[in-house]
Formats: sequence, C-alpha cells, structure tokens
Amino acid sequence: MEVVCPTCKKKTTWEENPWRPFCSERCKLFDLGKWASEEYKIEGKKEEEEDEGGQKEEKSSKKSSLEDQ
Ligand SMILES: [Zn+2]
Repeated sequence: MEVVCPTCKKKTTWEENPWRPFCSERCKLFDLGKWASEEYKIEGKKEEEEDEGGQKEEKSSKKSSLEDQ
C-alpha cells in the first residue's frame, strides 16, 4: 500500500515502514515538534485570558466607586 507522507507529501510505503504514515524519522519528529509548538501556543493564550480577567476586575472596582458617589 502506498501512502503520502503528511509532512513532506512524498509517496512512501505503509508496509515495512517503521515511520508510517511518515516517510522517515525526520518527518515523524517534525510532526511531533509541530504538535508540541501548538500546545505551547495554547499555554500562551491561557496567560492572555488571565490578564483580561484582571482588567475586568479593575473595571468593576471603578464602577462600584462611581456608585458610592
Ligand atoms: Zn516525509
């Protein structure tokens, strides 16, 4: 059976291929690295969301001070 490597789009064989569905170890490691970098981006996003929450708290405290006046 022939498969196309998801990393480099080269045709490779499924049978007797230790790196399937990739054509080589290099392409397999490249794909794993891609996933790792995407996870890292999600972690960065979480930090941004936390910052937004802090700004909301600031706004709500200003609002309550206006209500007091
Ligand atoms: Zn490849």
